[in-house]
Amino acid sequence: MIEPTAQSWTAMLEEELKLQRERHLWRELRPLDGTQGPEIEWAGRRVVNFSSNDYLGLAAEPVLIEVMQEAVGRYGVGAGASRLISGNQSPHRQLDEALADFKKTEAALSYSCGFSTAVGTIPALVGTGDVILMDKLCHACLVDGARLSGATLRIFPHNEVGRLEEQLRWARAKFPHGRLLILTESVFSMDGDWAPLRELVAVKEKFGAWLLVDEAHGVGVLGPGGRGLVEELGLSDAVEIQMGTLGKALGVAGGYIAGSRALVDLLINRSRSFIFSTAPPPAQAAAAAAAVRWVQTPDGITRLEALTSNRRQWSDLNDAETMAPSAIIPIAVGGEGRAVEMASAFLQEGLFVPAVRFPTVPKGKARLRLTLTARHTAEHLRAVADLLKIRRGDGFFDKLF
Ligand SMILES: *Cc1c(COP(=O)(O)O)cnc(C)c1O
Repeated sequence: MIEPTAQSWTAMLEEELKLQRERHLWRELRPLDGTQGPEIEWAGRRVVNFSSNDYLGLAAEPVLIEVMQEAVGRYGVGAGASRLISGNQSPHRQLDEALADFKKTEAALSYSCGFSTAVGTIPALVGTGDVILMDKLCHACLVDGARLSGATLRIFPHNEVGRLEEQLRWARAKFPHGRLLILTESVFSMDGDWAPLRELVAVKEKFGAWLLVDEAHGVGVLGPGGRGLVEELGLSDAVEIQMGTLGKALGVAGGYIAGSRALVDLLINRSRSFIFSTAPPPAQAAAAAAAVRWVQTPDGITRLEALTSNRRQWSDLNDAETMAPSAIIPIAVGGEGRAVEMASAFLQEGLFVPAVRFPTVPKGKARLRLTLTARHTAEHLRAVADLLKIRRGDGFFDKLF
């Protein structure tokens, strides 16, 4: 038997890292000082920030900072245990109530983050003998939750409801007694486009399947009062499981499921990332609950309107015929090396527009991913649009995917 030595261990890791660099897939953490906002101190420089999912600019909102500070004073810094043991402090309960009220569902359950929400929820609902049907572009946490469940997994091409229907027909025949669960996002995180939710609802009803919609990039951006795309399309009663995060447009941290009382009770009893994990700090829950309530105030509505107006302005600046469908603007580049090069050209001009590469998106489909927020100014938007025009003129984007 060969004993692994300390050296072979390090050599193995270094070999992996070398490959990562050669493929232009190297990632590293860079220091960021100060608060989140449309302008940030990044690696020691002040840059315009087009990288954050803080769509409504709530991550450093004074009202929420005050709520969180006050909650730390009242409830301390940590929850001490899982909510089922002794960690269920009143801010957690109030957050669940605020979420159900906002989403107009019977009940809601909050988690530490969106990722743990997905990996805790999917396996609580389906398992061996059941089938999950998932859009090809679903987020990593939905993929991991699906794998963890032990259900048979089928992936349908992005937004192709016809293919989904074929898979549902196959699944119904093969697993006549199995549960069928469809997973999608309302707004896709790397493309910014919408799922055809009405068609998905129609097809799932035909086959008696359930539908989980991840609104991570829909809530706070779309729908009346920022309630999301499901509400915008009037489908709240038709979608069994509405999922979301409290860390993006809502500015704080956490994740949630909104739906029926029975769904939430089942999760409290079965969802492993909820049961076997310390509750998030009560101050986090208090700030998140305050954020959920704030978006429904006149100030919140005004902020949402500012985001919508920036989406419209972005489209005008880029001569697009219709308004950007969400706050996520993908700029197709293709090659990984090229995307990185393009991002650094932006950075030289003081504009932080990150390159997104494999495995976040497929190989050869690298892109710049620009996010608009309510607090970007007209000058911020113009600066990026101008630079894009110049690089288009240079032929930099001639090899689009
Ligand atoms: C970010 C994201 C999540 C995870 O949410 P966190 O609260 O950041 O863990 C889930 N789904 C989608 C589509 C996301 O973009």
